[in-house]
Amino acid sequence: MREALAHRLRKEDLYQGLSSIICRTTLAAKTLRHKQQMTVPNKEANKSTDKDSLFFSCEICLNQGKGLIGRGKNLLEMLIMKVESCDALLVVDVQKDFCPGGSLPVEDGHEVVPVINALLYKFSFIVFTRDWHPPDHCSFGDPPKFEDGSWPAHCVQGSEGSEFCEELNVGETPIIFDKGVDPNMEEYGAFGRPDLGDLLREKGITRIFVTGLATNYCVKNTALGAVKQGFQVALVADACRGIDIPPGAVNETLDELREAGVVICSSTEVE
Ligand SMILES: [Zn+2]
Repeated sequence: MREALAHRLRKEDLYQGLSSIICRTTLAAKTLRHKQQMTVPNKEANKSTDKDSLFFSCEICLNQGKGLIGRGKNLLEMLIMKVESCDALLVVDVQKDFCPGGSLPVEDGHEVVPVINALLYKFSFIVFTRDWHPPDHCSFGDPPKFEDGSWPAHCVQGSEGSEFCEELNVGETPIIFDKGVDPNMEEYGAFGRPDLGDLLREKGITRIFVTGLATNYCVKNTALGAVKQGFQVALVADACRGIDIPPGAVNETLDELREAGVVICSSTEVE
């Protein structure tokens, strides 16, 4: 997943007021819900040195105070992405079985590790989730079809593959949330049960930054579950990797998340 897929607003533009906000969007026009209502400020935009980006004025953003990357009155707050005490970082399933060499590897899954490690020190509250299956878990197929409901055995409790990636800096006393523990429940997302939401609310968390593996399964369901429980949610795109089968599946997931109100951002925008 490329950083260019994230819809972004330049922070410096915020200080010039809403009337001058410039929406910075990608050339992936198929992802632009409001494309037809945008105007390109000048033809020179096509000659931008940033080949992945064009600058658009988005009338919807200007007139309604919401738009491509956020919704409602929280837009400005979300765009700045300054980490505060009400924010939590959620690291989803960065386990050996989901990385190259594991039993259910996500392509380039290991590449999220340095990105997440760089984010960790910015947050005072961090939760690491684990896929933590019993050996007879319902998601295991024999033989596996490598699709929903029929995966190879993975992240079996206590197995080497269930361990966090060695380079992931989980610290000495990580807060760990296990899911998929019930043999009869798939549980891709971490908010299917009330436990995690309750813990976060207890800690005064209102906004969650989601990272990890895989974008279109556990990350997606975790992000949507958090929205459903009333949290503001940002997905840090370059800190996630997905399973792009069929091709385009990851981009479709990002569209779905945006539609649900999730902000798609880059780790460089989280301060
Ligand atoms: Zn699983």
